Amino acid sequence: MKRLLCAALAAALVLPLFAFAGCGGKEAPHDRYQIDAEYRDGVLAAEMRFTFYNDTGESLGTLEFNLFGNAYREDSVYSPVSPSLTAAAYYAGESFGSMTVSDVSPCKSWEVCGADENILRVELAESVSAGERAEITVSYTLTLAKVSHRTGITEHAVNLGNFYPILCVYEEGAFYECEYYSDGDPFYSECADYAVTLRTDGEYTVASSGRILSAERDGRDTVYEMELSGARDFALVLGKEFSVAQGESGGVQVMYYYYDDDSPQERLELIEDCLGYFSETFGDYAYPTYSAVQTGFCVGGMEYPALTMIGDRLAGAERDYVIVHETAHQWWYAAVGNNQLEDAWLDEGLAEYSAALYYEARPGYGVTMESRVRAAENAYKALYGVHEQIFGTADTSMDKKLGEYLSEYSYVVIAYDKGFLLFDALRSAAGDKKFFAGLKRYYEEKSGKIASQEDLAESFRRAGLRAEGVIASFVDGTAVI
Ligand SMILES: [Zn+2]
Repeated sequence: MKRLLCAALAAALVLPLFAFAGCGGKEAPHDRYQIDAEYRDGVLAAEMRFTFYNDTGESLGTLEFNLFGNAYREDSVYSPVSPSLTAAAYYAGESFGSMTVSDVSPCKSWEVCGADENILRVELAESVSAGERAEITVSYTLTLAKVSHRTGITEHAVNLGNFYPILCVYEEGAFYECEYYSDGDPFYSECADYAVTLRTDGEYTVASSGRILSAERDGRDTVYEMELSGARDFALVLGKEFSVAQGESGGVQVMYYYYDDDSPQERLELIEDCLGYFSETFGDYAYPTYSAVQTGFCVGGMEYPALTMIGDRLAGAERDYVIVHETAHQWWYAAVGNNQLEDAWLDEGLAEYSAALYYEARPGYGVTMESRVRAAENAYKALYGVHEQIFGTADTSMDKKLGEYLSEYSYVVIAYDKGFLLFDALRSAAGDKKFFAGLKRYYEEKSGKIASQEDLAESFRRAGLRAEGVIASFVDGTAVI
């Protein structure tokens, strides 16, 4: 743990919110990340100007940020990659990375702390009252490991997921600190606005969560300017081998970045069709662009707002499935947020069920809903049997924190398969009309916000289905499947 004092105790910029009147109607304005970064040879050096809008209702003297890049350290407590995937992920052998903060200004003090040097805690120069804003600038360096993972140099591209310090969610009087568990996606954040500038070698093509406003050549470099509003994260992928297939779906600009695909046009059409189907079924897609990016990723794919990483080891029907699942996450995780450390089933179960709905609506793929239900039931029953045999009893509750699952296998079956079966049970109980009305309400009411089990039940209740009993029995592990 390091504890450092700021070089200068300059006064915090504490300004009243009304300076921004007109920004957001009834909703409080978003926090804002303005990141100026340069990527060179495995190192991203950046300055992040962060504007905090205090809508917590309390006066705060401290801010906390997750430093996900620090999970790749040699001596990290939590490994970002599970043991079963380590060999595939670290394709060149052992490799390490880090996120090093060099300065925070203005502030009284700052330190890197938390359970695994995963938190940047900043004591503000002055407390920021409810309804006011504060601004700080964080200077940091992200060093990338050679790893086919969210943040790393892969064999064919550079993944810049979680590449900046991101504000922890403030709830129940404290900032929620995320440990980097290898099972699941250990992320939890509120929506914010982003303005990102990236300077890098002109040979790179950049895929971005944000709309690319400009890409100016400057000698051997290209400088990209990007922006994205109302998103709970922002990711980039850099590649020197990318080809780009471009299209459009319902006014959304769609990009497919690839370097190993014999039929990219088919993939592009699948991505466009998914966006169209989910928009029609749940509500309009939330961002102006959507990029699906083929890149090194040790397992399946990874979702970020308006950008999806698709593992380059995938091909055929498996790759298509990952594209459909990750695209569904644009509704469940990106737009409707949830605490992915505590309620992983909420977005994973619904992304799985949404993917099955897509295939049900597109019978040409030959993936029936019946076969998906059977597969999920079989997976669940197998886990149940194994647990009973080993422990004499089967704990299939879903309200576990990521680190509490007995194994990666048990996490996948509970969050994905049992989550899937929960939504199938709700559909059976409600009938299609109320079920789809419930999902539409859930999307409409919680888009841009954080949702819980209770919010899901409430949306279904408004659509005419008393769902809380079914949901509770699945979550607490008493439902008989
Ligand atoms: Zn998923």
